[in-house]
Parts: sequence; structure tokens; C-alpha cells
Amino acid sequence: MLATDPAAAAATVLATLPDPETTARCCNPGCAELCTWDSGRNGPPPRFHHKSCRMAYARKRRVLIELRDAYQRVIDEARPTYDQAAQLKRRVQAVQMQLDRYPLID
Ligand SMILES: [Zn+2]
Repeated sequence: MLATDPAAAAATVLATLPDPETTARCCNPGCAELCTWDSGRNGPPPRFHHKSCRMAYARKRRVLIELRDAYQRVIDEARPTYDQAAQLKRRVQAVQMQLDRYPLID
């Protein structure tokens, strides 16, 4: 139960809740490095441990989207046979599984 005095409520929360972790794995699925947030500095916590990871992430995401869309265009526009369409749909799903590991960040 929070105190009615806002300053007291904040003090209670600060005193009772644990400090959140300030280290997390890099958001690039192919990277095992850790990001550490210096909470004493301004700015949001880092999502990538290095600029190269941010760029690799964006590049991989873009390639997966283009691949998924290319398969989908063939399904929609090229009049594939039933078996071809089934194969293409499986490829779309496989790419989507990978793409799910690369959500839009920022
Ligand atoms: Zn990284």
C-alpha cells in the first residue's frame, strides 16, 4: 500500500523494490555480447552493444522482409500450381519465423 504523501510513496518504492538489472543481451539475435546501461548518464539504455550490431540487425531485417515479400508476390501474381503455392507458403512461413526475431526497433 502506497502512502498518501507522494514523496513518501516514492521513498517507499525506492526502499522496497529491487533495483532493475542494467545489463541485458544485445538485441541482435546473432550476438551474445551484453549491453550495459550506465543509469547515471542521460539517454536511453542501449539496445545494441555496438553500432555494427545495429547495422547488421537492420540489414538482416531488410533482407528477410524483401525475401518474404518476393515469395509472397510470386504466390499472389505468378499463378503457381497448387504444389508450388504450398512450397512458397512454407518458405514465407520459414522467413517469417526468422523475421519474428527481428522486430522493428525504434
Ligand atoms: Zn551485439
